[in-house]
Amino acid sequence: MAKKQFKAESKRLLDLMIHSIYTHREIFLRELISNASDAIDKLYYHTLQEGNTGLSREDFSIQITLDKESRTLTLSDNGCGMSKEDLEKDLGTIARSGSLDFKKENEKKDEIDIIGQFGVGFYSAFMVSDKVKVISRAYGSEEAFCWESEGAEGYTIDPCEKQGHGTDIILSVKENTEEENYDEFLDPYRIRALVQKYSDYIRYPIRMEMEKTRVKENPEDKDKKPEDVKPEYETYTEVETLNSMVPLWKKSRSELKPEDYNQFYKEKFYDYEDPARVIHSSTEGAATYNALLFIPARAPYNYYTRDFEKGLQLYASGVLIMDKCADLLPDCFSFVRGLVDSQDLSLNISREMLQHDRQLKIIESRLEKKIKSELQAMLKDDREKYEAFFKNFGLQLKYGAYGDYGAHKELLQDLLLFYSSAEDKPVTLAEYVGRMKEDQKHIYYACGETIERIAALPQTERVREKGYEILYLTDDVDEFCLSTLHEYEGKEFKSVSAGDLDLGGEEEKKELEQQQEENKDLLEAMKEALEGKVSAVRLSQRLKSHPVCLTAEGALSLEMEKVLGAMPGENPGVKAQRVLELNAGHPVFQKLQQLYQDDRELLKSYAGLLYSQALLIEGMTVEDPVAFSNEICRLMTR
Ligand code: ADP
Ligand code: MG
Repeated sequence: MAKKQFKAESKRLLDLMIHSIYTHREIFLRELISNASDAIDKLYYHTLQEGNTGLSREDFSIQITLDKESRTLTLSDNGCGMSKEDLEKDLGTIARSGSLDFKKENEKKDEIDIIGQFGVGFYSAFMVSDKVKVISRAYGSEEAFCWESEGAEGYTIDPCEKQGHGTDIILSVKENTEEENYDEFLDPYRIRALVQKYSDYIRYPIRMEMEKTRVKENPEDKDKKPEDVKPEYETYTEVETLNSMVPLWKKSRSELKPEDYNQFYKEKFYDYEDPARVIHSSTEGAATYNALLFIPARAPYNYYTRDFEKGLQLYASGVLIMDKCADLLPDCFSFVRGLVDSQDLSLNISREMLQHDRQLKIIESRLEKKIKSELQAMLKDDREKYEAFFKNFGLQLKYGAYGDYGAHKELLQDLLLFYSSAEDKPVTLAEYVGRMKEDQKHIYYACGETIERIAALPQTERVREKGYEILYLTDDVDEFCLSTLHEYEGKEFKSVSAGDLDLGGEEEKKELEQQQEENKDLLEAMKEALEGKVSAVRLSQRLKSHPVCLTAEGALSLEMEKVLGAMPGENPGVKAQRVLELNAGHPVFQKLQQLYQDDRELLKSYAGLLYSQALLIEGMTVEDPVAFSNEICRLMTR
């Protein structure tokens, strides 16, 4: 038969197809297998409707045959096959999908889970082959036809012989070039891996002959001692079913045991530990999908680095579309692993992406709620596990609460844990507020490098003495997180090292104000002595046994200054507004009062010393350690 031209500017279209639609050449196999599966589905659907065709589900399969000699990869199915007209229409017209028509023609559309819809997948075969041959016999017909094409130049259709209904697609795999390796598509291990990656959940068995080795049986060995037996090996071939067929997530929850989920997780996501929690859900309505999510027990080594890539696997009707679909997963829950399978995604033509992110948005927000409630359940009924989880991923939740100007505050605030001075362990904000004293107005917190150092901070003494609980914050992000949350259940967060602590009654306040007034000149003289290092020197309401401490006024705390200062890159030296606070009840203060009268020079030097001490207590460095040391020596030898 004479060569026919492809219809509709097909030449250019085909060229475009082959060279620019797909990012990964390897997906040709996914496309051909999907077509084979569709063809079987169509025939199966037909047998269900007709009844009594003598065909049953078990008879259907897809076969892959590799021949390195002739460089061919053959994909055979015993599905509905194609008539001469079908070959002409469906393979001769680019972007015509017989499968889409089939779906539209049949009434019970929703029940048919057919993959094809764009009518371009087939041509992906030309990405890896110079020549494609399709031998097909339609179900119920005696005639078979062979469609053959070398790409853009057109195709031929001729009658041929074929046993039984169905289709064989024979690809002549391209020769390797200097840059490109095509041999991989003739390698059984590579093909098996590709089937398992993209087509593991195709509902019909995909079979291939695999070469294996075994110990050769030797009758003489029977009489020998085991140590004298020298094993000889032989190779043999065995037909293997490459795909697992039934997606775990399509099974009902009652059918599955925890081990099933755990094993699936470990194999699929290369973890050696069981997941901390499994979420298995199916939803219908605005978005129909199955989701199987896992909360890992441990953070992967690169979790808190730029290398880490978040995302869920995305399947459309059991076929892998994307390995890491980032849009399905909110940032704050980026540690979640798993997959989503949906049949009503509007995929783009290469089936590598989605057309509309609206569907993704809907799914993402549903998953977000699911993940949150799962974490809440874990917090409630398995505290120990939750605390372990929080050690791994709590930082991410805190960043999440802090990020986007607190947009995810509602979502995350009840999942956060902070170390409590009262309980000596991490607690939730709800637990803190539930325990608050009747006269307590704020949620108090203190920052520092370690729990021990914070507990020793002079600023925490009075608050603790009042019987108020303090949250000890040790992560850099903690204070930023709380200042973004601003309040919890109407209770404001308050640093023990900043501003008015709101501790005592009116009486106490007045008294302090009066003392402050009486010592105004002394405090002013000390401020001057510190030459702009502090914005004020004040009498303290938070100190009990210590003489001095450093606090900050305004939005930026000393801790924040430290964190920002330690960030890489240029930083314009953001500074907190420092206040030196003195304990009026401490003997040192009386000494200062006396020096103000008798020895202004020494007062200056003491002001410097006290400031240095306050810096050290805060975990900061003194500006001039040698001068500091000299001053102390001078005191020691007086
Ligand atoms: P799509 O699968 O999106 O419809 P393809 O380009 O992959 O597009 O295939 C085009 C059409 O060719 C299919 O819709 C189907 O009608 C037909 N077809 C392809 N492969 C087979 C096959 N193995 N058996 C029967 N029909 C097939
Ligand atoms: Mg297809």
